[in-house]
Formats: sequence, structure tokens, C-alpha cells
Amino acid sequence: SALPPPRTRIFKIIVIGDSGVGKTCLTYRFCAGKFPEKTEATIGLWDTAGQERFRKSMVQHYYRNVHAVVFVYDVTNAPSFRSLPAWIEECKQHALGTEVPRILVGNKCDLQDSIQVGTDVAQQFADAHSMPLFETSAKSPNSLGDGNYRNSDHVEAIF
Ligand code: GDP
Ligand code: MG
Repeated sequence: SALPPPRTRIFKIIVIGDSGVGKTCLTYRFCAGKFPEKTEATIGLWDTAGQERFRKSMVQHYYRNVHAVVFVYDVTNAPSFRSLPAWIEECKQHALGTEVPRILVGNKCDLQDSIQVGTDVAQQFADAHSMPLFETSAKSPNSLGDGNYRNSDHVEAIF
């Protein structure tokens, strides 16, 4: 494949959170500017790699040379929010603590009738972990009518 143009800088940003929170859709939205028509569950290689030794090297590869971390939960799924401390801890164990830019993203804000994780509790959590919080939707960013969910207008700039 072609070399990148001169002076191009490549950043490795990892997107982390429970299965189904919308990591693939958010990434697709950012890269392609739209919501994917259909997605299949992304099976991380470590899901299928049977041997522990192999799993360990895959995970280490994933966390190597990371420039920034995006933690994602689903605002309609409280368990996905409760999983965040474990994801944060896993990152810390791979040297991705507060010295690396990290942001917290609450996805699926278009589903306003099904909110299980309110802004206040999410903001408290974000503050406690020194991360900015962005509430957004990969699917329909404008469905509230005013064009933006809380903070979501800044997400692209942060990425
Ligand atoms: P991942 O496992 O974290 O990569 O999650 P996916 O990106 O595959 O999305 C899981 C499911 O959530 C899919 O059915 C998506 O269509 C849906 N989804 C993802 N983002 C949003 C969103 O912002 N709003 C809504 N309503 N559904 C979403
Ligand atoms: Mg995925």
C-alpha cells in the first residue's frame, strides 16, 4: 500500500468498553462520517485464542504504543457503566494511566426514553478519574433537535 504523505503523523487510539456499547459504530462514524448499515460483533482475537500465553501477547500488542484511550459505555445499559473501573484498571496495568490522554464517552444518547446512566453520575465518575465526559450518539447525533447532545460537539476535536 502507498506510503503516507510526508509529515503525516499516525496516532494509535484505542476504544475500550463492554461488547455492544457502540465502539465499532463510533469509530465508523468518526472515520466514515456515517452510521454503519449493519455491524457484526467484533470478536477480539483474545476471545478465540485458546492458549493463555498467546492471549497475553495479543493483549500486550493491543496496548502497545497507544497515544490515547477512549472508554465507552452505553447510557441505556447500567452494567456497561459499572464495567468501567475494570477497563480503567486494565489500562493502568498496561501503563495507560493519567499520563495518557483518556476520555469517557456515553454512547446511544438518541435513546432518550431508555436512559439508565444519568449525566450527573457519569460526570462524577469522569471527574473522579480525571477524564472529560462526552455524551453522544453514533447513530443520530441530531435527534434532540438542537444539533448536539451535551458536550458531543467537541468529540471530533478531541479525537
Ligand atoms: P461494539 O460491540 O461496542 O463495537 O458495538 P457496535 O458498534 O457493534 O454496536 C452494538 C449495537 O448497538 C449495534 O446494534 C448498533 O447498531 C447499536 N448502536 C451503536 N451505537 C448506537 C447509537 O449511538 N445509538 C443506537 N440507538 N444504537 C447504537
Ligand atoms: Mg465492535
